Amino acid sequence: MSTVSQTENRVFEAEVNQLLQLMIHSLYSNQEIFLRELISNASDACDKLRFAALSDDSLQAQQGALQISVSVDEEAGTVTVSDNGIGMSKDEVVTNIGTIAKSGTRQFLESLTGDQQTDARMIGQFGVGFYSAFVVADKVTLRTRRAGDAVGDGVQWESDGSSGYTLDAMDRSEPGTEVILTLKDESKEFLSAWRLRSIIKKYSDHITFPIMMLEEVSPPAEGEEANTPELEQVNDASALWTRSKSEVSEEDYKEFYKQVCQDYEDPLAWTHNRVEGKQEYTTLLYIPKKAPFDLYDAQQQRNGIKLFVQRVFIMDEAEKLMPRYLRFIKGIVDSNDLPLNVSREILQNNKLIDGIRSGSVKKILSLLESIAEKEPEKYEEFWNEFGRCLKEAPAEDFANKEQVAKLYRFDSTLGAKQGELVSLDTYIERMQPGQEKIYYITADSYQAAGNSPHLEVFRDKSIEVLLMHDRVDEWMMGYLMEYDGKSFVSIAKGELDLDGVGIEKDSDKKSDEDNPAEEETEGLIKRLKEVLENKTSDVRVSKRLTTSPACVVLGEQDMALHMQQLMKQVGHEIPDTRPVLEINPSHPILRLLDKEPDDERFANWSELLLDQALLADGGQLEDGAGFVKRMNEMFLALNS
Ligand code: ADP
Repeated sequence: MSTVSQTENRVFEAEVNQLLQLMIHSLYSNQEIFLRELISNASDACDKLRFAALSDDSLQAQQGALQISVSVDEEAGTVTVSDNGIGMSKDEVVTNIGTIAKSGTRQFLESLTGDQQTDARMIGQFGVGFYSAFVVADKVTLRTRRAGDAVGDGVQWESDGSSGYTLDAMDRSEPGTEVILTLKDESKEFLSAWRLRSIIKKYSDHITFPIMMLEEVSPPAEGEEANTPELEQVNDASALWTRSKSEVSEEDYKEFYKQVCQDYEDPLAWTHNRVEGKQEYTTLLYIPKKAPFDLYDAQQQRNGIKLFVQRVFIMDEAEKLMPRYLRFIKGIVDSNDLPLNVSREILQNNKLIDGIRSGSVKKILSLLESIAEKEPEKYEEFWNEFGRCLKEAPAEDFANKEQVAKLYRFDSTLGAKQGELVSLDTYIERMQPGQEKIYYITADSYQAAGNSPHLEVFRDKSIEVLLMHDRVDEWMMGYLMEYDGKSFVSIAKGELDLDGVGIEKDSDKKSDEDNPAEEETEGLIKRLKEVLENKTSDVRVSKRLTTSPACVVLGEQDMALHMQQLMKQVGHEIPDTRPVLEINPSHPILRLLDKEPDDERFANWSELLLDQALLADGGQLEDGAGFVKRMNEMFLALNS
């Protein structure tokens, strides 16, 4: 018998209240998931005890028959979910249940969309599942004792989910946790054992611990004694990944994913493999449909792989099993060769782990390749969610660089609008005769990339240019360097050598005739160099321009102007780069400039020319006011 004493009253933090209200509201049409969440917590608790017992002999005995049970008391109007897992100490109850100290809560609140489906999906992700109990209950009582603590160290937590909770010390003869829900009037449907069973089958069939309920007994016939119902196992409890693929249905895979990887939506795709030979392991890896909210948050980067050894759960977030650029992959790895008492430290430098990791990466990359090939629309969906993550690969995973790059998609000058993406393979297929390089430009938006004056000669010669406008692109290209033996060339950097590319086109010959020879412009270039000496590293005739008067060109190693801007904004010191000014001498503006006799006016014109070229290339002007002043003077000069 347990005894209760010493009641302590505590109030909820403001956020808990807010969370509860929102949760109740957003799960209104999806109430049944409270059971999934509580069973999942119970199963985690059993996993934790089993793991703790590996290194603590005193806990061995307690992990005898780990199990979860679900029971109903119709008269009291309660549903109880209990487990004989790790349990909690009083302090743990306060931190884990009472305060929601976890950072996830605030983010969860901020991310609620009002769409029930989406919000329900997020509950698992944010780790606020326990509170879903209040969707169906107007009172929740949790009794628990931490495994290894004394009988008298039990604790009872109770709350009506409105203002606060009470804490009481209590004796508990067994360690583990029991959560008693006093159902609301409108949620009495969950008093039906039949209903609970069907929810368990639906969401929790794959929980690896037995979930027990009292068997249903038919009422006794007249004159016969009533049968006493016994506990029976409701769930299947077999580790799904140990079955052979042919025995597992698509539905099973999806349900397992939702249960184990805590997603409300079906996965986008999965790959299930048993590897035998030098080492034996099984992987079941999933690609989610949607990226988690914190995928790009450097502080929060979580990994979705659970490690099992011989079907015993060892740890969550086994980050050594997946490279960071695949951190969105979820699922399980079950090894037959690792020791059961494996720790994160052991995983650091372990040949077996390295083998599993490279095998898993290969599986994922080939899965993605086959989706890209056979289901382009699905692939697009994937790329839009996770493409940016994959772009981290060249810096992280040199060995698979080429294979990952095959999966890249970019906007290009041949696309009619943003989002008509091209792969590097397609780019190569469409290359012009004589073209050996893959041309690209980086900018901070699709428009900025697509309107860059650097594209002019490429458009003219029908040479495709990749329009990269993702912030990571410039950084990524520093590592990617080449693909399929062809090097990448930023068209905004270095001298341009298009000799021999696309030469069949008539327009080339024409533009050559149009261009005044270099000697003819020598004087103009000399004057420009003098005036712009401190702002440019060189002035030369451009081979890139057909319609714009001028453009700026960076050195091959220089960082793109929009990136320089960005780095400066976040406080990085960037060495000053002086660009080359390239001019288009056949342009009327340049012709006018050449004829300008007045030195001061010439200087003003030249500054304007450089400034507008910088602006067109995504740079920012150091002296914006000076630019405006000069431009206004020029306007006035039109009349004089
Ligand atoms: P999550 O399980 O996603 O972390 P919850 O709100 O469901 O979020 O639970 C909060 C925490 O409370 C859990 O992380 C766990 O530490 C603790 N907890 C909940 N239920 C149990 C249980 N049955 N046994 C032991 N600890 C539990």
